[in-house]
Amino acid sequence: MSKKNPEKKSNPGISRRQFLASGGVAALGSVALSGCATGGGEVKTEAPSTPKISRHRMLGRTGFKVSDISMGCGSIADPNVVRYAYDHGINLFDTAETYGNGDSETKIGTAMQHMDRSKIFIVTKLGIDESPDEQNIIERFNKSLERMKTPYADALMMHGIADQELVTYEPFHSACAKLKTEGKLKHAGISSHGPRGDEPDAMDTVLLKAVDDGRFDIMLLSYGFVNKDEGERVLSACRGKNIGTTNMKSATGLLVIPVLDVDNPSEMVQGWFDYLEADGATREEAIERIKAHLERQKPEHEKALAATQPFMKKHGIKTQDELDRRSYQWVLSNPDAHTICPSMPNFDRLDKFLPLTGTELSSSGQRFLDEYAQVYRSRNCIIGCTDCISACDQQVPVSTILRYAYYYRKLGRQKHAMRKYAALAQNQAGVCLDCSAPCVDACPHGVQVQAQLFEAHGLLTLV
Ligand code: SF4
Ligand code: SF4
Repeated sequence: MSKKNPEKKSNPGISRRQFLASGGVAALGSVALSGCATGGGEVKTEAPSTPKISRHRMLGRTGFKVSDISMGCGSIADPNVVRYAYDHGINLFDTAETYGNGDSETKIGTAMQHMDRSKIFIVTKLGIDESPDEQNIIERFNKSLERMKTPYADALMMHGIADQELVTYEPFHSACAKLKTEGKLKHAGISSHGPRGDEPDAMDTVLLKAVDDGRFDIMLLSYGFVNKDEGERVLSACRGKNIGTTNMKSATGLLVIPVLDVDNPSEMVQGWFDYLEADGATREEAIERIKAHLERQKPEHEKALAATQPFMKKHGIKTQDELDRRSYQWVLSNPDAHTICPSMPNFDRLDKFLPLTGTELSSSGQRFLDEYAQVYRSRNCIIGCTDCISACDQQVPVSTILRYAYYYRKLGRQKHAMRKYAALAQNQAGVCLDCSAPCVDACPHGVQVQAQLFEAHGLLTLV
């Protein structure tokens, strides 16, 4: 892994404010060239421009040169976010039928008229849990194309596979073969982030089987410094078969402990307000419930703060962003990880991530992450891991629940995470309260499993 850290910001692009003032991508050509005015009005620059993508990598045997940062489209606030990403050089968009129940694909479709289709790579995904037949897969895929207003997708992935037996699911493969013949699809792919519900297989078990299968040209995997070994087993196998890799959930570490500032709520606390108010609570009721929740969580939060504050002080870091930046640079430093694919719901996230293009982690950044991994071991479950699963006779899906907490805290997808958690019904972590917690000894990675589950349960249910 290279140690250089150029932090370069080449190809300065247009700022978000300029973008919106210009009316979007349609007007950007003239802005970028003239740097002054569009639509008859002066365009003002109030902040340094967000840089454009400066590095590309070959996406395995797809033969496509992909931007080193791509766009995870799990939730998109506005089609202009897609257009803004495109204008800044992002050329891979990762969506799915289920993202916003088709809304993500629809927003990509709205932005499509402003993009040169031949210069972008669209990945969409379909779940196959309910044993769809070939015709069902083809019909659903055609609807995805309609929503995205495109005659073809570059890749169709099996979505979130957690059962290795599904890797060879024939209706999916025969549907892909037909769609390729019709010119509607270029590549078959697969995504996995390990166990899900009652499907128990680890991410690397699933994806290594998919590598051996030979029919997948591209894979989306969880890869970050917290699950280094597991991720690198998959990346190395993909390198051997020249399979393209897109990498998600790369910044798994956490620094932030929630506090309630009613006038200036953090993103997490705002998520609670949104959820409770959408559920019919008044502002006052929401404040009271959040206060009560934080009070119950206080002992755990105090323990966490005692562990984290000396570390943060030593390294002079104050925000979660500083940890996230290093985490993404760690992945960007590995050429086998062809592109990072973080969730980019809004302009802020794009402005935050784009300056990382072309950069790699410095040696001091590596030391920082090494120390972080030691200090915070107890708080970071490895996404995709299944090592403690057999220790729980209550069938609590540890890795799944802690992944939902990740969606909540790190991806800002509070409602999505809470709904997913609610769907677990009797398998929720409430039962952990009366348990002697054999899962703690079963975790070889030092995670305080029970404490993390308590925290996740509180976060995902606000109780
Ligand atoms: S605390 Fe008990 S119930 Fe909860 S996950 Fe661990 S073993 Fe299962
Ligand atoms: S708690 Fe430990 S063993 Fe269990 S899934 Fe997380 S990292 Fe793996």
